[in-house]
Amino acid sequence: MNNHLRGIGMTSQRTRDRLIKRLQEMGIQSNTVLDVVKNTPRHIFVDEALASRAYENTALPIGYNQTISQPYIVARMTEALMANGPLKKVLEIGTGCGYQTAILAQVAEKVYSIERIEALLNKARENLYTLKFRNVRLQHGDGNRGWPEYAPYDGIIVAAAPTGIPEALLQQLAINGRLVIPVGSPGYQKLLLITRTEDGFEETLLDMVSFVPLVEGTD
Ligand code: SAH
Repeated sequence: MNNHLRGIGMTSQRTRDRLIKRLQEMGIQSNTVLDVVKNTPRHIFVDEALASRAYENTALPIGYNQTISQPYIVARMTEALMANGPLKKVLEIGTGCGYQTAILAQVAEKVYSIERIEALLNKARENLYTLKFRNVRLQHGDGNRGWPEYAPYDGIIVAAAPTGIPEALLQQLAINGRLVIPVGSPGYQKLLLITRTEDGFEETLLDMVSFVPLVEGTD
């Protein structure tokens, strides 16, 4: 790995190890998830001026009024998605700068990700190319509609909060598939795990969270 990816000083492995310890303290148990977070250079995904804060357990601005999600939330959502074992096809809504996408690409065979802001999608594409992920497909579009072409998905993860669960996402979930989604208005959002069964959907509350809103349409 070159020096830029490996990181130095505030982006060094030692700084990353501290983040992993923090995630464990906060309740993340999956060694797969902890290893993947540990080995994914988050500083690549933020502006150089913020690189020294990349391994703090906080959301950070990525431009266009959006944020890169807090590492704990990324880990929590990935862990919930993976609880039934390895994933084949995963759909992600809200690519942003591609950090969560990079995490998913290491725990799923194939990742499909949709972002409504084209400039951010281009950034994500560049970042994922730098890290050499080959199992990711990106689309500029409105995630409310899902990506019917490759459905059904055994995991769907949504990084922005609608006020109600989009019907298309439920429809594109495989039987035994899992959807992890924040739902609600700003200041009061529930992170839900929806599991599709033979005869319907089961809902579990995972956490109270704070995400940017899931917006209709594209930019
Ligand atoms: N997954 C990112 C988080 C990005 S923040 C990470 O790893 O950090 C949420 C993203 O959802 C923003 O980039 C926002 O533009 C996007 N978004 C909001 N509404 C959307 C929609 N309807 N379809 C697709 N993306 C949407």
